Amino acid sequence: MSSSKAKPKKPRKSQARLGPRPLGEDVLREGGRVEVRFPSTFRDRLTEELARPAPPGAERVVFALAGNFLTQSGPVVTVSDLLEVPEADYRLTGEGTAWSSGMTARVASEAIQKALGILLIHSHGWSNQPALSHTDEAGARVLLPRFRSLVPFRPHGSLVIGRENSIGGVVSYPTPGGGFEIKRVERARWTESPLKLTPDRAGPDIEREEVYDRQELLIGRAGQRILAASKVAVVGLGGGGSHVVQQLAHIGVGTIVLVDDDSVEASNLSRLVGAGPADLNRPKTAVMKQLVQGVNPDVRVEAFGERFPSTNGIRALRDSDVIVSCVDTLASRVELQKVSWRYVVPLIDIGMGTRISDGEGPHRATAVAGHIHRYLPGGHCMWCSGMLSPEKLAIESAGRGPEYVKGAVNPAQVVSFNGALASFAVVELMQLLTGFMARSTSRPLLSIDFLESRLYSVQPRSDRRCPHDSGELARGDPVGFAASATLVTGM
Ligand SMILES: [Zn+2]
Repeated sequence: MSSSKAKPKKPRKSQARLGPRPLGEDVLREGGRVEVRFPSTFRDRLTEELARPAPPGAERVVFALAGNFLTQSGPVVTVSDLLEVPEADYRLTGEGTAWSSGMTARVASEAIQKALGILLIHSHGWSNQPALSHTDEAGARVLLPRFRSLVPFRPHGSLVIGRENSIGGVVSYPTPGGGFEIKRVERARWTESPLKLTPDRAGPDIEREEVYDRQELLIGRAGQRILAASKVAVVGLGGGGSHVVQQLAHIGVGTIVLVDDDSVEASNLSRLVGAGPADLNRPKTAVMKQLVQGVNPDVRVEAFGERFPSTNGIRALRDSDVIVSCVDTLASRVELQKVSWRYVVPLIDIGMGTRISDGEGPHRATAVAGHIHRYLPGGHCMWCSGMLSPEKLAIESAGRGPEYVKGAVNPAQVVSFNGALASFAVVELMQLLTGFMARSTSRPLLSIDFLESRLYSVQPRSDRRCPHDSGELARGDPVGFAASATLVTGM
């Protein structure tokens, strides 16, 4: 694609015929809704750029690159990158906003290279119910077929951002047969803490409301309804995971996703909450499901007794509002980090490490520590935080175990330490979902030194994009090279 071929974007009826299928009024009304997910770090960039005064006669716009995937509740469009339009690239036409052929070429080239869709985002003075104007719709009729011809297998759209996280617009969403469907943009998910969903999640009516009387004094009726409408995935059902699952059942999370392929062994019984001798050799997912149903029959459970990352496991995770990682290897954390970033789902990770001196007797433990980390896609990641590093992975793959505390190669676990870490994780999760704490701790990287009874917190920089993201962020489902080979250029 050469920039000389590119033309300024402007609604012109004659060009509508260039696309594979004109986008008429009837098509704009086609059924279906789509959710748009924004990584945490794009909020400020997008808001600031759209709030800047536009050149006279134009509306300020931002291009975005987009991935996509399907969930049980419908299609999702993930915002993978933003491309601001430099001042000098706006063109005045008297018929709405247009931009230079150079800008068009840049957007097209990035979309093709990264195999992502193109979104055109603007705002209408931050209204409460943002919607495309007639001019916007006319523009979309011309633009969307062109975007589709560049990258046919990804979503393309025209979005309007409004006040209070509201959103409107249309998306041309790819269908399996190589076609597309036009869908209204109805929901936005801003992956911050607390999570912001538009429209607000009212949640289902809560059964046995009196159960949550005391809890609601803290998180409010609204917070309780959010919990009841939420789906939380727990990966790894050991000492930490079982505590997390039990607490999620108590606080009334609507759906709990369980992922673990292990069965209960005798050595688990000292710390696997909800398990007893009768559970030996039973799948941990079955034992945890029973635990949940015993505590709170209103909670739905989806169990995946598969080794993570399995296809079903990944599908369940990307459908969740939050993933809680209670795995015991760094290799599993590498995969969870990818899923969190790719599908824009926040991740809370807990782990414990110990060091013991040689010999028997008291005073054996020279280090007992743990961590509770919260990761929001687009912000600091497990690599930024030092949780993952090539050196640590090499040590683990050489069979020397996760080196959590320096020098440690010790799988020691005790239910009380697991429980402390799990409890902190559930507090973080409640804050992430409901925002019930007025002054959020905002200490996403927390460590506990049990020997010294001390908490440590690190405040990572969250105002910049993670330098470790290798194009994984918000890609959604990967697309094969075969699909990109069918690209038709000529935007
Ligand atoms: Zn990072």
